[in-house]
Amino acid sequence: MPRIHYSYRLGREVPLLTDEEWRPIGVHLSNYIRAIKDCRRAHGCSVAEAREKNPQGQKALAAYEALIGVRLEHPEQIYVLPLSLYGRPCPDCSKSFRTPRARICAACGYQLPDGEVAGPMTEES
Ligand SMILES: [Zn+2]
Repeated sequence: MPRIHYSYRLGREVPLLTDEEWRPIGVHLSNYIRAIKDCRRAHGCSVAEAREKNPQGQKALAAYEALIGVRLEHPEQIYVLPLSLYGRPCPDCSKSFRTPRARICAACGYQLPDGEVAGPMTEES
């Protein structure tokens, strides 16, 4: 089940993925990056050209859409979707902490007690 949380990296709410959901989509992303490197090596094209010609990115986008029902604009957006990159929701404003190691909420400024960190976002968060 998709978990919709605010992504600081995308600047909007987006369905995040568990590690198990992310893994098969990540395989497409690895192929996407490899294909960009191969294209640049073989044809000397720019990164932009290599991205444009690359069908692997579309496979990653399609896999995310098939699972979640949302189409993203660019395959590299998928890199910021694992839940494990984010901290749990802020007790004050409910937006996620920026990272599991965060001590201050970037959205509202809520400060956790000394020695406490946000901890990871979980499926139940
Ligand atoms: Zn907050």
